[in-house]
Amino acid sequence: MIDDIYQDIYSKVEKGDALRRDVALRILDLNDLDTFSLLHLAYLFRRKYYSNVVLLHVINNVQNGHCGEDCQYCAQSKLSAADIEEYPMKSDSEILGEAEAAYQAGAYRYCMVFSGRGSPNERIDRLVKIIRNIKQRWPIEVCVSPGTITLDQARKLKDAGLDRLNHNLNTSKGYYSKICTTHSYEERVRTLKVARSVGLSVCSGVILGMGEVPQDVVEMAMKLREVKAESIPVNFLIPIPGTPIGTPKGLSPEYCLRVLCLFRLLNPEAEIRIAAGREMHLRSLEPIGLYVANSLFLQGYLNVKGESNARTLQMIKDMGFRISSEMKLDDLLKEDDEQLFQMDFKDELELRPFKNKE
Ligand code: SF4
Repeated sequence: MIDDIYQDIYSKVEKGDALRRDVALRILDLNDLDTFSLLHLAYLFRRKYYSNVVLLHVINNVQNGHCGEDCQYCAQSKLSAADIEEYPMKSDSEILGEAEAAYQAGAYRYCMVFSGRGSPNERIDRLVKIIRNIKQRWPIEVCVSPGTITLDQARKLKDAGLDRLNHNLNTSKGYYSKICTTHSYEERVRTLKVARSVGLSVCSGVILGMGEVPQDVVEMAMKLREVKAESIPVNFLIPIPGTPIGTPKGLSPEYCLRVLCLFRLLNPEAEIRIAAGREMHLRSLEPIGLYVANSLFLQGYLNVKGESNARTLQMIKDMGFRISSEMKLDDLLKEDDEQLFQMDFKDELELRPFKNKE
């Protein structure tokens, strides 16, 4: 009886058990289980842990480019010929201004991202001051993506008030050497452990569409369960011209939804974020992703623009969800009402395309 499988999945997740690998693989198989039944299951756990709240993140490349690593997908890597703006770490006042703007825009969390592998001590010292400043001024969660860090550096950040540290696993252990050779998967896992050991919340995400197979995707979701990542950004590859990775492979909107379901069902309590590429890969199914995921980036990604704030906020409202912010969703949307109801008349060519073709 096919319906038993959905009941089995529900019972396992509800009991706190991990799904078996073969069941996890079935979730990704478009010819097997029913997508809407899986969405319903995933939604039950999304609702249980997050109600109908969406957590909005604003991500800020506080420093951009000049990276010596060879991550194949990244616009900032040494292999990339992407035409991006490169700059050293922004000034403190620039960063604080952006943190305030993120808060005013309705963000729940502000995330500062650095390129490069490690974190020089001077950078950590500057971050300590910046984090203290942000936490004193605005009620917003703060996350940093600093590359690898030492225990001592992690402690300093935690003491300054940092809430969360991001370090993505990106792909599975078995596939890792296909996307990066200058640093290892183990180094990435180690960084997460360092963050965890000082009491920081851990954010670690993945990128889909880089040529991995479903077994790799299951491995990623299971690994993030093992490291107890509180936050999991699920990125869908944006093929940036000039990067060696090439075009995304194997992604369809329905498959992307199933990937989100898999991450939710293996990590039911985690903040699952539909991260980069949601517009490009989920397309018309993007709003449905919110039944599974409880988190979004508000203002695009690192070097690539995303949907406008207004469209993202409107999608949240249209779906009947709300944001976690002192700002009111309706107030944030008010200014955009005009844009929402804008219309243009068709011109004559659109109304009578065959007028002169007799
Ligand atoms: S992902 Fe990070 S480490 Fe890798 S190339 Fe980009 S900036 Fe460098």
